[in-house]
Amino acid sequence: MPSAYDETNIFAKILRGEVPCYKVYEDDAVLAFMDVMPQADGHVLVLPKQPSRNILDADPDVLSALIPRVQKIARAVKKALAADGITLLQYNEPAGGQTVFHLHVHIVPRWTGVELRRHAGAMEKPEVLEAFRAKIAAAIDGA
Ligand code: 5GP
Repeated sequence: MPSAYDETNIFAKILRGEVPCYKVYEDDAVLAFMDVMPQADGHVLVLPKQPSRNILDADPDVLSALIPRVQKIARAVKKALAADGITLLQYNEPAGGQTVFHLHVHIVPRWTGVELRRHAGAMEKPEVLEAFRAKIAAAIDGA
């Protein structure tokens, strides 16, 4: 039995506007922003606005709305950063690698021969995050 949703998790605070983020996209269903400890340059997180802890307790309608947004943003990330590919990651419960307990999908751009950095490993510099944010947001606008 999974634990209940915790309103104090960091992504809930970002969704409520209590904590800032490097926003790349927002609509009625999702918010997308830069991961501050990226596993690759341009690593983006996409969150449904409706609270769920992870995929195990999510409403299927929320998942149906989420995936087309993930696709739209993944296409923009690939185009904006001239990536060779995209890896999607999605962790569930601590044993599954989850560290923040609001459902989210990782969009990680990949370049041939470039290894992924460690999950939630090291903080990126603000100016680097902002530069990728601006490029990706512009590519979504133009999509
Ligand atoms: P999870 O293991 O839950 O899938 O990953 C959570 C992700 O959120 C990690 O990749 C981590 O780097 C990222 N993260 C943790 N705290 C923050 C934060 O305050 N802001 C942003 N933008 N990302 C965060």
